[in-house]
Amino acid sequence: MREAGRLSQISTSMIRRMFEIVEKAKKEGKEIVSLTIGEPDFDTPKEVVEKACRAMNEGYTHYTSNFGLEELREAIAERYGAHLSNVMVTAGGSEALINASLAFIEEGSRVVVPTPNFLSYFTYAKMCGAKIEQVRTHDTAFIPDPDRVNEVMGRDVSVLFLNYPNNPTGAVMSGKDAKAIVEIAADNGAIVISDEIYDQIYYDVKPTSLVGYENVVCVNGFSKSLSMTGWRIGFTIADERLLDSMLKVHQVNGVCAPAFAQKAVAEVLTEGIFDEVVSRMVSEFRKRRDYVYSELSKIYDVVKPEGAFYMFVNVKEDCMAYAEKLLDYGVAVTPGLPFGNYNETYVRISYANSIENLKKAVESIKSYESQKA
Ligand code: PMP
Repeated sequence: MREAGRLSQISTSMIRRMFEIVEKAKKEGKEIVSLTIGEPDFDTPKEVVEKACRAMNEGYTHYTSNFGLEELREAIAERYGAHLSNVMVTAGGSEALINASLAFIEEGSRVVVPTPNFLSYFTYAKMCGAKIEQVRTHDTAFIPDPDRVNEVMGRDVSVLFLNYPNNPTGAVMSGKDAKAIVEIAADNGAIVISDEIYDQIYYDVKPTSLVGYENVVCVNGFSKSLSMTGWRIGFTIADERLLDSMLKVHQVNGVCAPAFAQKAVAEVLTEGIFDEVVSRMVSEFRKRRDYVYSELSKIYDVVKPEGAFYMFVNVKEDCMAYAEKLLDYGVAVTPGLPFGNYNETYVRISYANSIENLKKAVESIKSYESQKA
């Protein structure tokens, strides 16, 4: 068996290694609080489940149009001040990301990714045969500095990835900086893929959407906002010409998102209950963020997250060794390495967990640090 060359730079070893380490600890009978979770720990709201069951019984069990149910596209368009013709529903945000990557990342081109960032962007760039140009953000509170982006830009850059609120840092970029970066990309003929999947989960600073710019593909979805990661409902908002290119991939990739799930989300949006459902979840996340931040900032340098449910912490030792040793104290965290360069001493902490578990985890981290001292 021979693997295709396009996968030669892509590795699953890090994820496998962490999985094995956690499994081993569990087998040894250790009770582990996991701070590695990449999804809200809440069940999908009952409103969504009930609507989906009804939709299934009503026959929403077939293909929809490749673009998605019109009712859902209209509701999304209205929410984001776009036109129906600019919205394509996809099988999760991930499908939208790979559609955009295959549509716009030219083989041999450069792809700009601020680091730290969501690990999938590195995989998409590699799969498409592009070179990755990382822009460091550690000394700018995890927000990319437009001047630094400008320094690495050139006509050979096909795509630039932005993700705010950010995974793994929780950073939220200002509209001014985002606009500056979009303009730099436009001047160089590059497409910005703006992954806005966490746009509903924010605390004191409201994220700015980049919907409406000619060279921007906005990727979003309901995995996080409605806690429905297993349902696979995402969407893309972009200029019609860009959507046409992405349709070439989508028609053979996701094809369409599950019909009953599209119908349920459409109703949640049109009946005006979406914001209420989101705010129930965000107020819980806020309590957890405040708790974890107030405790961990006593022992580490932490940038206060303004969105999502992650914190990226400089633990000032090798992140793999730290993650492994912390398991002996009953806590699992994600090492920083897969999130890009310069992250060797960072770990991602997800606070998508109960306050009770977070308290246990914080106490364990404190006792790990105090025995080091
Ligand atoms: N973008 C980011 C930044 C994410 O963190 C995730 C999920 N971990 C996704 C996209 C993918 O979301 P989905 O489940 O909708 O594919």
